[in-house]
Amino acid sequence: MHGFDFTVSEEEEAVVPGRKVLVTGATGLLGRAVFREFQNNGWLVIGTGYRRARPRLLCCDLTDEDAVRGLLQEYKPNAVIHCAAERRPDVVERHTEAAVNLNVHATSTLAKEAAACAASFLYISTDYVFDGRNPPYGEDDCPNPLNVYGRSKHEGERETLRHCPGAVVLRVPVLFGEVESVTESAVTSLWLKVQEGTESCTLDHCQQRFPTDARDVAAVCRKLAERARQDPSVRGVFHFSGNEQMTKYEMAVAIAQAFKLPSDHLIPLTEQPAAAAALRPINSRLNCSRLELLNLSVQPRPFTSAVTDCLWPFTADKRWRQTVFH
Ligand code: NAP
Repeated sequence: MHGFDFTVSEEEEAVVPGRKVLVTGATGLLGRAVFREFQNNGWLVIGTGYRRARPRLLCCDLTDEDAVRGLLQEYKPNAVIHCAAERRPDVVERHTEAAVNLNVHATSTLAKEAAACAASFLYISTDYVFDGRNPPYGEDDCPNPLNVYGRSKHEGERETLRHCPGAVVLRVPVLFGEVESVTESAVTSLWLKVQEGTESCTLDHCQQRFPTDARDVAAVCRKLAERARQDPSVRGVFHFSGNEQMTKYEMAVAIAQAFKLPSDHLIPLTEQPAAAAALRPINSRLNCSRLELLNLSVQPRPFTSAVTDCLWPFTADKRWRQTVFH
């Protein structure tokens, strides 16, 4: 491990007995939201990152088995929420070995070490484990990933459940949230297209997506972790998803309308691009009934207001935040 500069004081430990959580990928889009959600709800949170870890978080290369073992043995968390992954399908296609090391092998090590220290384990997975030909997909439906990213995440699910039979796998679709730069999420990236203004710009209008706010996923993670502590039957695969079906074209138009910007330059593309680097499912809608039946779901935030919340810091005129819904 690249050294710790994070210490948990005895006082902090005393405040939250049995509520110590390790969040991997805490520098990332989802991990940041998960970190905050647990911190705001009486958990002691230990967050790890890698390239962006310093100075606030622990820096740990999760592909280093000894470092992962040391991390778990030192902090002995009660729960692990494993968000770290290489989640960009085209990058996974080009740098497969590195991505598999993180998405599969690091997951396997973490699951083993979590089981060894009796921590509950929650692995974040994706709707891309499905081929998208026969939606909606239930938790027990058979995965058939179309690209290497989806295969690596499915393999990560299997490693999780093999080493940690009491673990939870939570599959989610495309995410957005508070971003450091708009390109951090496929959804907020559309801001750049919206802003192109006069230049006409084509956007996919074939692939059906269910954009989901990372804050909602974080709330579900906390509910799952808290319930799993009391009820060992809360394990296996769960789905959570926003409930508004939209193509990228429709998301961009919704963003333009929310900010009262022109959308005439946005052109819907109704044919799949022939040379896409990694194949994507056409519609991998998730059926989320298992979470709902156990009362572990949250009401997804409406897309327009949630995405506006995330994008307002990138507007030239910050008064949008106050004025846009009034
Ligand atoms: P992200 O923003 O790309 O963050 C990835 C995280 O992984 C970062 O914190 C990064 O740390 C960390 N990481 C990368 N290499 C590492 C290494 N060798 N050792 C330790 N940590 C490393 O990802 P995200 O969007 O939050 O995704 C979170 C989870 O949701 C993933 O499991 C992903 O598969 C799943 N998911 C995401 C989406 C989506 O649309 N984003 C959709 C479905 C499912 P540094 O940045 O500090 O290096």
